[in-house]
Parts: sequence; C-alpha cells; structure tokens
Amino acid sequence: MQQVTLLGSTGSIGISTLDVLERHPDKYRVYALAANTSVETLFEQCRQFQPEVAVMLCSDSAETLQRKLQAAGLNTTVKSGDKALQEIASTSQVDIVVAAIVGAAGLLPTLAAAKAGKRILLANKEALVMSGALLMRAVEEHGAVLLPVDSEHNAIWQCMPINSKQQYRFDNAGIRRIILTASGGPFRDWDVAALESVTPEQAIAHPNWSMGQKISVDSATMMNKGLEVIEAHWLFGLDSSKIEVILHRQSIIHSMVDYADGSVLAQMGNPDMRTPIANTLAWPQRIGSGVEPLDLVKVGQLDFATADVERFPCLALAYQALDAGGTSTTILNAANEIAVEAFLGRKIKFTDIARVIAETLQHVVLTEAESLEQILSADRLAREVAQQQVQILCNP
Ligand code: NAD
Ligand code: MG
Repeated sequence: MQQVTLLGSTGSIGISTLDVLERHPDKYRVYALAANTSVETLFEQCRQFQPEVAVMLCSDSAETLQRKLQAAGLNTTVKSGDKALQEIASTSQVDIVVAAIVGAAGLLPTLAAAKAGKRILLANKEALVMSGALLMRAVEEHGAVLLPVDSEHNAIWQCMPINSKQQYRFDNAGIRRIILTASGGPFRDWDVAALESVTPEQAIAHPNWSMGQKISVDSATMMNKGLEVIEAHWLFGLDSSKIEVILHRQSIIHSMVDYADGSVLAQMGNPDMRTPIANTLAWPQRIGSGVEPLDLVKVGQLDFATADVERFPCLALAYQALDAGGTSTTILNAANEIAVEAFLGRKIKFTDIARVIAETLQHVVLTEAESLEQILSADRLAREVAQQQVQILCNP
C-alpha cells in the first residue's frame, strides 16, 4: 500500500487526484491532505478519505476544521502553517507526494519532498520555474523521483526513450526538439485590439480544460505555455532552442518529441488531468483513471498553427527570461503572480499583465540562482516591484 500526501487537495488537480485514488483503494491510502482556506471542502475530503493528518495554511481555518472533525467523531490530526506542509511532504510515513499547490507557495513543501527522496507527482510548475536548478539538484542528490503531471510534460515523458527512474538528461537520445502543444486559450480567435477589454470571467472560461483561476488566466495570456517551456527545460535538460510551441486547438495531442531520424512521437488523449495523474501515480505500470476512451472519429480533425507572439507577448517574455538565466525566471514567475492577482481583482487590464512582467524584469537585477536565499530574495523583490507597477497602472 502506497501512502500519499496530497498538497492542494481542494483545487482542480487535488480533486482529480482524489477521484483517481478512490478507484484504487487496494493500492493507495491518503496519509495527508492540505489546502489553503477551504474548510468545508477539506472537511468533506477528510470524512471520505480519513487521512492521518490535515493541514490548512491558515490557523483560523485549521481551528474550525478541527472543531468540525471532532464533532463528526473523526480523529484526523489538524495542523497549520508552512512547517506542517513541509512535514507531511517529507515524513517517513509517506511514499508519494502530489505537489498541487498553486504558485510559489508550493516550492518549500516540494523541496522538502525532494530532500526526503520521495516520489513527487509535480503539478506545481511554478516550483520549477522559480528554482529549477535547486529543485533538480535536490531530486538528484536525494534519489527522489520527479514525475510530471502537467499534461504536456507528462506526454513528453511518455514519448522519451528511457523512462528509467533517475534519468532526467536526454542529451544523447537523438532528440531534435520537443513540441509543446497549446490550445491558445479563450482568445485565440479574438482581434488583438479587443484583448484590452477582456474581463476576468472571460479569461477564466477555458475552452478545453477545467482548471483553477490562476492557471486559467495564465492559459489565456499563454504565460502558462511560457512557464511550461521553462518547466520542460529543467525536466528534460534541453535548451530553449530545442523547445517549440505550436497551437493545437483540440487539445488531443498533449505534446510531441521529434527525433533525429524524422520520427515524431505524440501522446494523445481526451483533455482530462486524471490521465497524467494516473500515469504518474502508477508509473511504470498503467491503471484506470476514469477517463473516457478517445473517440478520434468524433474529434474528426486535428488543427495546428504557429503561436502568435503579438497576441501572446507573455510567451516571448518567458523565453527571454529562460535565456537570461539566473533568477530571471523567478522574477518572471513572481511578477506574473502579482499581475494575475491584480487582473482578477479588476485593478489592471488583461493586456497590462504582460506590461507588469516586462517592467519588473527590467527593474529587478538578476543574480545567480544557486541558493534558496537567492531565490526567495529575488521572489520578494520582484513582488514589490510588480506591486509598484500595478499601482502605476492603477493611477496613471
Ligand atoms: P487551484 O487554484 O484549483 O487549487 C490550488 C490548491 O492549492 C487549493 O487546494 C488551495 O487550497 C491550495 N493552496 C493555494 N495556496 C496555498 C498555500 N499557500 N498553502 C497551502 N495550500 C495552498 O489550482 P489548480 O488548477 O489545481 O493548479 C494547481 C497547480 O497545478 C498549479 O501550479 C497549476 O499550474 C498546476 N496545473 C494545473 C492543471 C489543471 O488542469 N488544473 C494542469 C497542469 C498544471
Ligand atoms: Mg499544461
């Protein structure tokens, strides 16, 4: 029986993960669940999965959860705060850690899981974008197994030649390039001029995938694909010239690997995150995920187009940051989180998101990204500068 810690259990990935786990009670047991503030959802999840531990980031939410669990006669231990997140990610009682917290908050528990040599199912792409070198080093040094849940990276992982346990470098595998597919989000067919007036409701209505708010906005700006280019760089050890993005509106091909002999391997499936979750849970075996079989006749046609950088300036910013190196991608990620929050709070326009990020990248001096201190300090500074940029845009 594999013991699982699920970080971010009340979110979109968290809920899909529980759906897969529920199908295999003979293989997996939930050891710990963790969330930010959603007491009601976490309570219902505790009632159903009866974990040993439940963690809420905020102590008030944790107290409310504790009272509710006691009243219901459940003996899950409730904890709160950052340290508790790291504890449930690294305890010897756990085999698998699902990293599904959104944003920079996921970094420290994911690092803790890596240092404890866990099998990590990584959805939290921001952790790699912020501190790819550090996280990959921790994985290698401590014998952790890092498996990508992000559908594109999971597709590439499945198309790679040697899926051996600790093989993250594919330099000599005859790979010409990898091709990340992107749906293009809700605005792929809009006039570029009309993007100025996009509302948060329009931005979070993704045509193919059902996801949390932040990643939905990232998909609409295509920063999500930018973050994924950086994620692919760290996961597969390829430089940016070997990572291409193309639009594929049906989201059936989740990504491809192009080999020197002209073979292109693609992984296909319905757009449902339970597939990569089940794949990484059971790898190298295969288990059921509840996902409908793919009906290619019904899909009918698969379209491809180039990604237009005028429409999606965030994608270009991500490539620039990756090429600049050091803490540049940490700065990019922090500025994006601040800008997306400001857009969702109706403080800035949709098109201001790229402006805030570009300005922040210009104003914050990049440093080496060798230590956690350097990463966290770049993250803090970039957030301050991005907030100033938001203020400037609010009060021109
Ligand atoms: P979401 O907003 O639906 O859920 C986020 C989860 O994280 C919630 O459970 C929330 O309570 C928890 N959380 C947020 N801040 C926290 C904090 N400070 N401490 C503890 N818990 C905290 O997000 P999501 O769509 O599930 O995405 C999660 C991650 O997976 C993101 O990094 C996203 O980029 C990545 N991802 C998501 C999808 C998808 O289909 N949703 C696909 C690929 C990758
Ligand atoms: Mg993805």
